[in-house]
Amino acid sequence: MNMSIMRLKTKVLLLLGMVSILVSCTGNAAKETPIVEIVEDTMVAYPGRTFSYSAKFSDAQDKQLVAAQRLGLSTPPKDRAAAAKMKKHLTLIKSNENYIVDSLDHSIPYLVPAAAAELQRIGEGFADILKRNGLPHYRFYVTSILRTQDDVKKLQRRNSNATSNSCHCYGTTFDLAYFRFEKAQPSREYMHQDNLKLVLGQVLLNEQRAGNIYVKYEKKQACFHITVRE
Ligand SMILES: [Zn+2]
Repeated sequence: MNMSIMRLKTKVLLLLGMVSILVSCTGNAAKETPIVEIVEDTMVAYPGRTFSYSAKFSDAQDKQLVAAQRLGLSTPPKDRAAAAKMKKHLTLIKSNENYIVDSLDHSIPYLVPAAAAELQRIGEGFADILKRNGLPHYRFYVTSILRTQDDVKKLQRRNSNATSNSCHCYGTTFDLAYFRFEKAQPSREYMHQDNLKLVLGQVLLNEQRAGNIYVKYEKKQACFHITVRE
């Protein structure tokens, strides 16, 4: 065996040795990292006063529809293809640090810019109340956004309550679930969903009082139905 082959062999062996050390290190690291399960055992709460959601959030459909037709799309899109052509007038709504866009069955994630800005403001208001009260950061769910006339027809088959002239067809209206919230970081502290509903309710109350939105409390769909009005 000549010297150059010997040297090559040594190099290969060295490399193999390094690889095996690396493999064993990562292997050990994985074994040694303990999986810490954080148990939610400390309930914390927003101290705001409760109020009647159905009394405060009773802005009727006809009132919301006037605002939707004034501020929204001039023609409700017939189907998804028609909606796609209107995208230049619409803002894409994506999950962010303050809310989650749910998997949408009968709607698509687009709003007119004024409504998109309002949703953003509601998200910031919700996060702000939690932060100011030293509470964990939660996100709420957006459950319905822009519906085409086809979506509305499909919904009507399921739910006789769904009106054919829906505010959701104008891109001004969105639904926020009040029974489902997601905590951003695991922690021992948690909040009851009724209390998170109160935080969201308080934000909506402020926005409604400022004349920015109409709100209807939808018991059947367990959501706040919101139309921008400014
Ligand atoms: Zn709605």
